[in-house]
Amino acid sequence: MVELRIGPHVKQDDPIAAAVAVGANAVQLFLGDPQGWKAPTVSYPGGASALRQAAADADVALYVHAPYVLNVATTNNRIRIPSRKILQQQVDLAAEIGAQGLVIHGGHVLKDDAPEVGIDNWRKCAERLDAKVPVLIENTAGGDHAMARTLERMTQLWDAVGEHGMGFCFDTCHAFSAGLDLAEAVDKIMAITGRIDLVHANDSRDEFNSGADRHANLGEGTIGLEPIGEVVRAAGAPVILETPGAKNGNADEIGALRRYLAT
Ligand SMILES: [Zn+2]
Repeated sequence: MVELRIGPHVKQDDPIAAAVAVGANAVQLFLGDPQGWKAPTVSYPGGASALRQAAADADVALYVHAPYVLNVATTNNRIRIPSRKILQQQVDLAAEIGAQGLVIHGGHVLKDDAPEVGIDNWRKCAERLDAKVPVLIENTAGGDHAMARTLERMTQLWDAVGEHGMGFCFDTCHAFSAGLDLAEAVDKIMAITGRIDLVHANDSRDEFNSGADRHANLGEGTIGLEPIGEVVRAAGAPVILETPGAKNGNADEIGALRRYLAT
């Protein structure tokens, strides 16, 4: 198979140096505060255009992760409306740095809400969004009211957003925690979305179907390297590690995953 792009989630100040340091040819970064509601920023010296050029020169693919606080599905107007606005700002700035995609969690509705309302909120968001870069909806680990946890809900979600070009980011830890069988999850999701644009290759600190979202280093968690490697192989998409890393950052994990994929 063609060698896939693999790399870690890194700090924003110099994502290219962080990639080079661990032998990565892809990285994911935040643009600004991942827990806040401020407009996105580029902290790389020289700004967006300099980062774009540096990434091209180093042949490093950039992916942006939207702030965790965004929830375009919720019925809470005070969350949903600013979420849409900041999502567009994130997409715009991701395009300026030449990112390959913008990852956003599927979100959720409140416990007394019908999930269909959240699905419809996603549809409205997707309709109005100017997706200058692919927007990749990421599956999440827990909650009964999540938009991208179970295959059933993902099917509803894609009926609503699929025609608007939304992409998919498959997180192995989240899928395992959500109770999806990793051996068949890629095929099942591909049947729903028609695409997997990115894999978040994370091991888990928790048991299968725990609903918990605690990432572990590849090969050191409850999933193990092999099932994660098989997901990557089946998806055939670029890979981002969102794991704690060891002494040398994520270099050992990237090496182990590359060796697994070469067998
Ligand atoms: Zn993830």
